[in-house]
Amino acid sequence: LLLAYDPARRLARVQVNLERSLVNARMIYEILDVEPLQRDAPNAVELTVGAGDIRFDEVVFGYAPGQPVLNGISFTAAAGKTTAIVGTSGAGKSTIIALMQRFYDVWAGTISVDGQDIAQVTKQSLRRSIAYVSQQPYLFEGTIRDNIRYGRPDATDAEVEEAARLAQADDFVRALPRGYETPVGENGMTFSGGQRQRLSIARAIVRQAPILLLDEATSALDNESEAKVQKALETVMEGRTTIVIAHRLSTVVNADRILVMEAGHLIEEGTHEELLADPHGVYHRFYQMQSRANFDIVRDIPEPAPA
Ligand code: ADP
Ligand code: MG
Repeated sequence: LLLAYDPARRLARVQVNLERSLVNARMIYEILDVEPLQRDAPNAVELTVGAGDIRFDEVVFGYAPGQPVLNGISFTAAAGKTTAIVGTSGAGKSTIIALMQRFYDVWAGTISVDGQDIAQVTKQSLRRSIAYVSQQPYLFEGTIRDNIRYGRPDATDAEVEEAARLAQADDFVRALPRGYETPVGENGMTFSGGQRQRLSIARAIVRQAPILLLDEATSALDNESEAKVQKALETVMEGRTTIVIAHRLSTVVNADRILVMEAGHLIEEGTHEELLADPHGVYHRFYQMQSRANFDIVRDIPEPAPA
């Protein structure tokens, strides 16, 4: 019975549940360096990130035996550049982001950072190198300052505020009567979607990680929020190796490289101009169907009517 109250064991049990639920695990790993439950390789070494090149090489993975959802995916996300992933719902975009953080291990193939197979490094060193901004940013009980500082617990107050400034959050935070000491969470302040996103971007900036994984929010923001979130994203992407599941047209068009996925396959790859140049390409068809700010490919794209 005593064991049941041992905090370390309780935490271990929480982690078991978290690892089972990817959505929850993502929420927590976004903000905490939780010691991962899955074991490291016996001779695991620390990941040392230099330039920050990410390489997927013939990666095969599925959630259930015999049902692969990634069928041999190979691509390079070049150091310091932005790689956007687009594709219909269920194509495997979120799975790529999950594998990158080693929520799961690949069935075959390798994922490497600067030539180091991530299966052979400690998860802690891997996750320390990654900032993850989810579609629905998670804010928890505590002050605004706490919420940003969870990106890196030893960040100074000045670093927290500088991150908020770079994330276009400083103005609205300072306008609050209690500023950075404003309580957030269940009984605290509530924020608009755009404000939450900017706080979550501030958290990613303060983390100072060389790799950024970004699942762009799909929900529509008002024009002012949209512009501020866009600016915040540009800042946090600057100089980091970014893989973004892209929904905004501007993110897709401005990406250094675009990966088009369909049903677990990478079917097209290139810059916006390169992909658009193929009138028979899937990307071209996606693009034609988008008229305004969003590049949402959540619904299946109908085949064109026969001529
Ligand atoms: P996307 O992000 O492109 O919409 P996902 O990577 O989320 O696609 O999903 C790829 C496939 O894997 C889909 O068929 C989806 O249903 C399945 N899938 C995703 N997450 C899980 C999970 N945790 N357990 C089982 N199947 C999953
Ligand atoms: Mg997804």
